Amino acid sequence: MENVLNGIEEITLMGPGPSCVHRSVLDAMAKSTLGHLDPKFISIMDAMKDQMKTLLHTDNKLTIPVSGTGSAGMETCFVNLIEKGDPVLILINGVFGMRMEDVATRLGADVDTLEFEWGTPVIVDRVKTRLAEKSYKIVAVVHAETSTGVMNPVPEIGALLKDTGALFLVDAVTSFGGMKIDLDAWGIDVIYSGTQKCLSCPPGLAPISFSDRAVEAVKSRKTKVPNWYLDLTMIINYWEGATRAYHHTAPINMLYGLYQALYLVLEEGEENVYRRHMENHLRLSDGLKDLGINMLVDPSCRLPMLNSVRIPEGADDAGVRSALLKDHRIEIGAGLGPLAGKIWRIGLMGHTARPENVDRLLSALKTVI
Ligand SMILES: *Cc1c(COP(=O)(O)O)cnc(C)c1O
Repeated sequence: MENVLNGIEEITLMGPGPSCVHRSVLDAMAKSTLGHLDPKFISIMDAMKDQMKTLLHTDNKLTIPVSGTGSAGMETCFVNLIEKGDPVLILINGVFGMRMEDVATRLGADVDTLEFEWGTPVIVDRVKTRLAEKSYKIVAVVHAETSTGVMNPVPEIGALLKDTGALFLVDAVTSFGGMKIDLDAWGIDVIYSGTQKCLSCPPGLAPISFSDRAVEAVKSRKTKVPNWYLDLTMIINYWEGATRAYHHTAPINMLYGLYQALYLVLEEGEENVYRRHMENHLRLSDGLKDLGINMLVDPSCRLPMLNSVRIPEGADDAGVRSALLKDHRIEIGAGLGPLAGKIWRIGLMGHTARPENVDRLLSALKTVI
C-alpha cells in the first residue's frame, strides 16, 4: 500500500514560517505520550511556564501555551478581553494588523484603526495624537510584521500607554525567539506568539502571557467569554494550582516539542540567539546587494528574521520561487496584498538563521535568476 509520507524530502525553510526544525525538537515530539494529568507531564508544563517567563522577561503568572497556531493566540487574547462595544485601537501596517481588526470586529468591539504604509513602521506621534482624543480599553500592534519585514516601535508605544489605562496587546508571533522582548519593562499587558517562526518548532501552539491587570480585566467581564475552547478562566484551572482540572486534552507531544525548542534557546543563550539572527541577516543583505537585489525596508526598522527583498527587474516571481524549491530544495515566501509580485520574503527564523543556509540561498539565487 502506498504511503504518501514517504515522499517527504528535507526542505530548507527560508520563508515566513514554518522555519527549519532542529532534530532534537523532532526527537522530543517522538517521545512516549503521557497522560495529560500525569504528574510527570504536569512538571513539564510548569517548567515550560518558567522557560517562557524567562525569555519574555515577565513575572506574569498567566504565561502558557494555547492549543492552536499563532492565530489561536491572537483569538485568545481578543476573545477573553473584548465585550460588545469595547473601544479598541489597532495599529495596522500589514496583513497581521488587518487580521487583528477582523478578529476584534467579529467580537463586536468598537474598533478604530490607524493605518501606516506597508513597508514602513507605525508612527508613534500619530498614536499619541489619537490617544489624546479618545480613550481605549485595548491598543494593539504587531511587533514584527511578517507580511512586510518591518519592526514596529513597541517600547515607545508602551511608554505612551503607561498612564492611559489602556491594555497594551502585542503580536509577537515572529519576534519571539528572534529578538528581545522585554515584556514587563515595555509595559505590555497581553502578548501572543506562535511556535513555527523563531522558536523553530512545528506549528501548533501559541505561547501567551497576560499581566495581572489583564487577568483582572478578564475576571471582571460582565458576560461570559464567548468562545468555550479559548476561555482562559477555565483553561487556568488546568495550567495552575495544586490540583489540575481537565478542560481539553493538551497536545502532549507538541508541548514536548515546544519545551525542547525553548530549551535550545536558553541553552545557546538569549543574547547569542538574537546576535545570530542579526549576523545572518547582515550576511544575507550584503550578499543580496552584491547580486543587485535591494531590500524593501529602511535599515532603521528592518527585521532580522524576515527579509523583504524587491524582486529584480525581469525576474519571474513564481518561476524563481518554484525553481528554488524544485532544484535547490529551498523555500522562500511571496509578497502579500499590495506587495504581491513586488517582493520575496526570505525568512531567517530560529534554526534557519545559519551562515550555511544564507550562502546556499545566495548561490541558488545566482543560478536561478
Ligand atoms: C504567522 C503569523 C501569525 C499567524 O500565525 P499562524 O500560526 O499562521 O496562525 C500572526 N501574526 C504574525 C505576525 C505572524 O507572522
